[in-house]
Amino acid sequence: MTNEREATIIEQVHTGVCIGGEWRAASTGRSFAVVDPATEQKLTDVADAGSEDALAALEVADSTQASWAAVPPRERGEILRRAFELLNARADEIAMLITLEMGKPLAEARGEVTYGAEFFRWFAEEAVRSHGEYRVAPDGASRFLTMKQPVGPSLLITPWNFPLAMGTRKIGAALAAGCTCILKPAQQTPLTSLLLADVLTEAGLPSGVLSVLPTSDAGAISEPLMSDRRMRKVSFTGSTGVGRILLRQAADNIMRSSMELGGNAPFLVFADADLDAAVDGAMVAKMRNGGESCVAANRFFVQAEVAEEFTRRLAERMAGMSVGPGTQEGVTVGPLIDEKQQDKVVELVDDAIGRGASVVTGGGKAEGAGYFYNPTVLRGVTTDARMQREEVFGPVAPVYEFTTEEEALAAANDTEYGLVGYVYTSDLKRGFRVSEGLETGMVGLNRGLVSNPAAPFGGVKASGLGREGGFEGIEEYQITKYVGLDV
Ligand code: NAP
Repeated sequence: MTNEREATIIEQVHTGVCIGGEWRAASTGRSFAVVDPATEQKLTDVADAGSEDALAALEVADSTQASWAAVPPRERGEILRRAFELLNARADEIAMLITLEMGKPLAEARGEVTYGAEFFRWFAEEAVRSHGEYRVAPDGASRFLTMKQPVGPSLLITPWNFPLAMGTRKIGAALAAGCTCILKPAQQTPLTSLLLADVLTEAGLPSGVLSVLPTSDAGAISEPLMSDRRMRKVSFTGSTGVGRILLRQAADNIMRSSMELGGNAPFLVFADADLDAAVDGAMVAKMRNGGESCVAANRFFVQAEVAEEFTRRLAERMAGMSVGPGTQEGVTVGPLIDEKQQDKVVELVDDAIGRGASVVTGGGKAEGAGYFYNPTVLRGVTTDARMQREEVFGPVAPVYEFTTEEEALAAANDTEYGLVGYVYTSDLKRGFRVSEGLETGMVGLNRGLVSNPAAPFGGVKASGLGREGGFEGIEEYQITKYVGLDV
């Protein structure tokens, strides 16, 4: 049940399909329910977009592309800057919307608004700092001019775990580069994206530039778009399995692709680490977003000398967390997104226990309505346990012991994923050595948080292709054209 304030916040969200800034009913004539994961109650229904809506959005994106690309960079930047300010001005209300549809505690949702809005500020600044080059050919006979141009209409597909930030991270870069775009948010969390469309319109985004298509049938949107030559780019954040499907589809059209996929982050604690800092970092790396984060620490490797003490302290902190609806004061762990995710966490923990792991704290779902799971620490997890290879995406910390640095690094890298790794050590040389040795796109060195709009976020191996944020982020939406000239 929502209270009056929550109901008002939900009521003001447009629940139709947004085609280039205009609101319509879905061509399918259907709608689908958005559910509060803390109560399992319906929040509202939203329009269920289908293939016809997808093609209408592409038509608009394609016909607006040239005029949007011609808008001066400063003006594009100012629209983003105004959107940054509007998001911050409405932060409390947007945070509530995020908490209602996704479940994270309000304080974390508030943090996501700050983080998500920051991508707009960052890319507002990047819009006017995108340069070409003048080069002299090695033989001196000619010159090369390079220029950056927008890649064109872009399909942006986002997951449910950061309903605002996963959208702004893509939209900010695409708009700054001069691309029109179509956003397909996750089925579980479309409301924040629909509100975001309104915020951008209020910030002055011209009609035709952005469409938002909520749907219960992702393929009905993505398949016609991925096979249409007018669609020039796909940027996807989500599971590696879906990323593979999209890459196969992109191959047919030789479509530019950015893929932010799954993770299986190792968290390494050496005996020389500051243990207080390591436990603080572990709590952030594991429990931000209740563990439902691609950069969540999935495997803790702790050097034998400090394993007992680290595990004890981590378990104490995990046991002290307060599980409940994210809207409630004092709650630090919200529900998981849905029953499927809750079942998956139960399965992975049961599998580890069945293979010999012991529970230090937690180890089960919370009773009652809502998809809650208690913060859990496991010891003695065997290397054949599924959670060694699969993302838990929940509040579960398996601790493994190691003896040597080589052994720790080999174990950390023994995964198809390569998004992020965390290293705690007070030995600077070791810190650099291990950072270089980790097969990941990012490293947190004595730090449990790597996400920052000004930094190039992304993975290697099965964790993806491309970078979001930083100076690199805008380049994902640009082509480099070169003009050769005689002198
Ligand atoms: P998911 O199932 O892959 O869904 C992500 C998005 O893809 C959703 O919008 C989903 O729509 C859509 N989708 C599903 N099937 C599709 C298809 N056949 N064609 C086109 N789109 C399709 O992932 P998730 O469970 O929502 O998110 C969790 C995953 O995202 C984790 O693996 C996590 O590590 C990863 N993630 C990565 C990053 C990163 O930056 N590397 C950041 C956050 C999350 P529906 O909602 O309608 O299914």
